Amino acid sequence: MSATIDLTSADARPRPAAAMAAAPAASQSKRSLLGLSRHDLGLALMEAGVPEKQARMRVQQLWHWLYVRGVSDFSQMANVSRDLRSLLDDKFEIRRPEIVEEQISVDGTRKWLFRFPARGAGRPVEIETVYIPEEGRGTLCVSSQVGCTLTCTFCHTGTQRLVRNLEPGEIVGQVLTARAQLGDFPEASTPQGAIVPSEGRLVSNVVMMGMGEPLYNYDNVKSALSVVSDGDGLALSKRRITLSTSGVVPMIEKTGAEMGVMLAISLHAVTDELRDVLVPINKKYPLADLMAACRAYPGLSNARRITFEYVMLKGVNDSLADARQLVRLLQGIPAKINLIPFNPWPGSDYECSDWDQIERFAELVNQAGYASPIRTPRGRDIFAACGQLKSESERMKKGDRLALEAAVAV
Ligand code: SAH
Ligand code: SF4
Repeated sequence: MSATIDLTSADARPRPAAAMAAAPAASQSKRSLLGLSRHDLGLALMEAGVPEKQARMRVQQLWHWLYVRGVSDFSQMANVSRDLRSLLDDKFEIRRPEIVEEQISVDGTRKWLFRFPARGAGRPVEIETVYIPEEGRGTLCVSSQVGCTLTCTFCHTGTQRLVRNLEPGEIVGQVLTARAQLGDFPEASTPQGAIVPSEGRLVSNVVMMGMGEPLYNYDNVKSALSVVSDGDGLALSKRRITLSTSGVVPMIEKTGAEMGVMLAISLHAVTDELRDVLVPINKKYPLADLMAACRAYPGLSNARRITFEYVMLKGVNDSLADARQLVRLLQGIPAKINLIPFNPWPGSDYECSDWDQIERFAELVNQAGYASPIRTPRGRDIFAACGQLKSESERMKKGDRLALEAAVAV
């Protein structure tokens, strides 16, 4: 198994490799076109005065510029007439998030702190997005919420109260900005002809494993992933998109049926007693319900397995008895088990299991017939590893927060 990165640097945040000065984030005045479905994009154009007969063609053009060519300014849309560009510019925007900070780990992992403008009476918000380059692929870890309503005890994001849900355009904007920063869009020098290359893309996979619980922002995540997987745009196959949930049971079947993406479950414990503590949503949706929802996940097969994430916490959930119980629990589910060495954060109460113990645990699970890779911690030196993401965005007023929490709670 691959070695971990030296943990001694985890608490000392190194200086950003490239820090960009943050201009004050203005509030969003024009409607953003990012993240809209083709249908809604067409409606928006018609409302702005584009004749109905032209709308379809204009949608195609815009879609190509936004998602294949990755332009961020109407003026770059060379085959759109000057008049229409100026109309679009008056009414809409395609602005991407502001990059407040970019950090690059010694292992090549990049973490961006993105800022989105205020909406309504709210404030600008900040979230983190992480890019993990690997041999033959590159994974973008995308956030779905600012903060999280849940409070998993080993997760740094869980210490940040929910500020708000991200809009579809803000989720798609993370993918666009990351690709632009990485130089992952085709050359923009000719107006026609650029196509998404089938291989060699720097962002080849997307995981909804950043800040927040994606199934508590279901509609926006669904809209965003439908844009990200659109074959004539960003064109990431649904097999290369994984949504991770802490276990919002009533939304799991719907996720498979409507989004059709790969599913990951943050399991972390094999008894209700322990999972109630580690992943408190378990009190609402206990293990038996979670496993039943997994068994019923649409499209499940040996070729389309569910990934079970299991954070290795020393002396808490890492015994061989736990491993045996894990195997029993997953019986009959096409599954892969991703063992995640615990990534510490300032103030965390847990320790990472010893490497030998992680390997013994992995071996037992593997002997039972399940793939059980140990996830190499990436980007710990810049605080970009699993569960280390957090932003300083302040939570909303208590009344608003309670209303939002009630609205997202299923
Ligand atoms: N809220 C969703 C998506 C976040 S995914 C979910 O919980 O599934 C982030 C993954 O990293 C989850 O599996 C989470 O449980 C795990 N994680 C959180 N904190 C961690 C930490 N400190 N070390 C390792 N993994 C952690
Ligand atoms: Fe939220 Fe996931 Fe962290 Fe739990 S593990 S607090 S659900 S982000």
